[in-house]
Amino acid sequence: AAEHVDPEDPQAKALQYVHKSTKDGQQCAGCALAQGSAGDAWRPCGIFPGKLVSSEGWCAAWAKKP
Ligand code: SF4
Repeated sequence: AAEHVDPEDPQAKALQYVHKSTKDGQQCAGCALAQGSAGDAWRPCGIFPGKLVSSEGWCAAWAKKP
């Protein structure tokens, strides 16, 4: 299985990625860049190739799913 993104990773830090979003209505689950299956707890993300982000996570590249 793919590794989870490490929030301490330099790229993750640059994008302020966290496993638990503090922004109302903004979570990886609702982000246009999240891949994989809706409902999965951990999902691939276009910004972090080869890693998984938390569906409840967030980063500065968040973009509302159309
Ligand atoms: Fe989550 Fe950021 Fe990836 Fe969107 S771009 S799914 S907010 S880590």
